[in-house]
Amino acid sequence: MSADNPDHRPITEARLLSMVNASGDSFWETDAQRRFVHISDNMCRTMGYPREELRGRPVMEFMTPEYRAELMRLAAERASGDNPLAHTGPIRHEGEFFRKDGSRLWVETVSVPVFDDDGVHIGYFGITRDTTERKQAEQALQEANRRLEAQLRHIHELHEQLREQAIRDDLTGVHNRRHFVAVAEHELERARLHGTALSLVMLDIDHFKKVNDLHGHPTGDAALKAVGAMLGATTRVGDLACRLGGEEFAVLLPGMGHDGALERAEKWRSTLAQTAIPADAVALKLTASFGVATFPQQAAGLVDLMKVADARLYRAKSLGRDRVVGEA
Ligand code: GH3
Ligand code: MG
Ligand code: MG
Repeated sequence: MSADNPDHRPITEARLLSMVNASGDSFWETDAQRRFVHISDNMCRTMGYPREELRGRPVMEFMTPEYRAELMRLAAERASGDNPLAHTGPIRHEGEFFRKDGSRLWVETVSVPVFDDDGVHIGYFGITRDTTERKQAEQALQEANRRLEAQLRHIHELHEQLREQAIRDDLTGVHNRRHFVAVAEHELERARLHGTALSLVMLDIDHFKKVNDLHGHPTGDAALKAVGAMLGATTRVGDLACRLGGEEFAVLLPGMGHDGALERAEKWRSTLAQTAIPADAVALKLTASFGVATFPQQAAGLVDLMKVADARLYRAKSLGRDRVVGEA
């Protein structure tokens, strides 16, 4: 057979080495203690060391602690016998090497154990690829992803804040009228469907104009805030407190019959009357008048319910204020 027959041309070590070098990858061989024995030109160049400074030195010396730990973990997985680092098959690992100038180099390596003719483990050979650029691109991508995720979280938070602001009254923190009406319509529909009761308590602070006249508008504002906080803190899950406007508030009580609602209103009335409201530098004594109406016995829909509660509130005013008026 001719030596030119591709099936029978023996591959020489020199050709093999020039192939590996041409691929841009690095080739090396170590003894059983992982000390460099042969180091290809590419390996010397990428590591930045002259060959004689690598030969005889343990590969591990050039690895970052993380890379060393990773290699030991992988080797131990495939170890046989007493030496946890003596793996029996090829292993692929990735990590960072230190160059001579102290800079770091990301590499991906396949290392394969080498045995002599008697089957004695005499070392390893490996092919190492410089993956620094790929790694940097990956890291830049991860960083960009992290930044994007953080921005998305921030946008989500802003969105939540906006949503909260859209349904809250700026001054008092209880819900605003628009949200109240939307929720009340929905709750009424539910009450209608399930045949359950729903009550509405409306309240208006008594002689509030005097608070402004006597103490100033900012103190009036502080008092409104305190009343809102009191209502917000004493509503139960499913109840909805809102500021209808000015010094007028409402609480929606889904599932609550008329007697229960009168009791709740009475509790708010007495709490308010007995509490000194801290408003700026002064402690105010405030009272409020309450009107209570209940669906479906006293009103057929939301407009009706609000009308009836409002009429009862004004009846409470005309009867002398600081009182609760429900169905006669
Ligand atoms: P009544 O017992 O009949 O309810 O008397 P009142 O003085 O509370 O009633 P009126 O409706 O005449 O006055 C309400 C006052 O509430 C008038 C207005 O100056 C005040 N007010 C409305 N909104 C605000 C607000 O946001 N801040 C402050 N400080 N005062 C407000
Ligand atoms: Mg008032
Ligand atoms: Mg009023």
